[in-house]
Amino acid sequence: MRSAKGGAHENGGKHISGAEKIISEEKIMDVAQKMIRRALEHTKGKSDFISLKIEAVQEDNIQYIPCLKTVSWENQTVAEARARAQAILEDNDITRKSVEQAFHLLDTLSANMRGAILLNAVTGERLDNLGNRGVRVSKMGYATDSFVTDNLHFKEALALASKVLSAPHILAELCWSDDPEYTTGYVSAHSKYHRLTNMKPFSSELGGRVFFVDSAASHEDIRTLIHYLEEEVVLIAT
Ligand code: AMP
Repeated sequence: MRSAKGGAHENGGKHISGAEKIISEEKIMDVAQKMIRRALEHTKGKSDFISLKIEAVQEDNIQYIPCLKTVSWENQTVAEARARAQAILEDNDITRKSVEQAFHLLDTLSANMRGAILLNAVTGERLDNLGNRGVRVSKMGYATDSFVTDNLHFKEALALASKVLSAPHILAELCWSDDPEYTTGYVSAHSKYHRLTNMKPFSSELGGRVFFVDSAASHEDIRTLIHYLEEEVVLIAT
């Protein structure tokens, strides 16, 4: 589902909400209703454009991957959160140059991207040439209903981050939300998802994602990586 206000995205409407799920057929009606409610009752405003797409998934095309382990860090200020994120990334073999470039790119966005930036983990060079669209991770969900939480942001981000780290050549991810009321971000690396409170100021409408890619990846590897993230169906075991 994707929704916007002021018309469709392609006609300049402001993005309000986007979400996707992989579910069994008997849940289609229930989930469709919840998605529509989410678009109409979002903290960013009431959508006046909602697009809902439903596609069948073939069982044979599903890959199963493990869920990342969660670690939580409480931070008093945005500066403390950012310093911790930087330290975790550097501990996981991302160079200071690349980490600083990631923060710089996210901090200087003039509008939210739809997807993520791919960055060389050593040089900090941007590796996708997808502009403001970025790499859009899709086709992931949980294998069972066992993970129950009221925090949809967390649940959806953990699924996305698990798929991202399962991709060949990705070493780490940095993220904070574009939801003005959701300031908890994360860094993921080495099978761990580090939740970090206060990653951005309350009421900021800008968020973003950076995926750090090992510097040995070739152009062909990057094409394969983007295909995996955007097209291949993955279910996460919890
Ligand atoms: P969110 O966590 O949904 O608030 O998204 C925060 C930011 O991450 C957005 O502004 C996008 O730049 C990026 N993003 C959102 N959804 C995706 C996705 N499916 N794949 C890659 N990047 C995404």
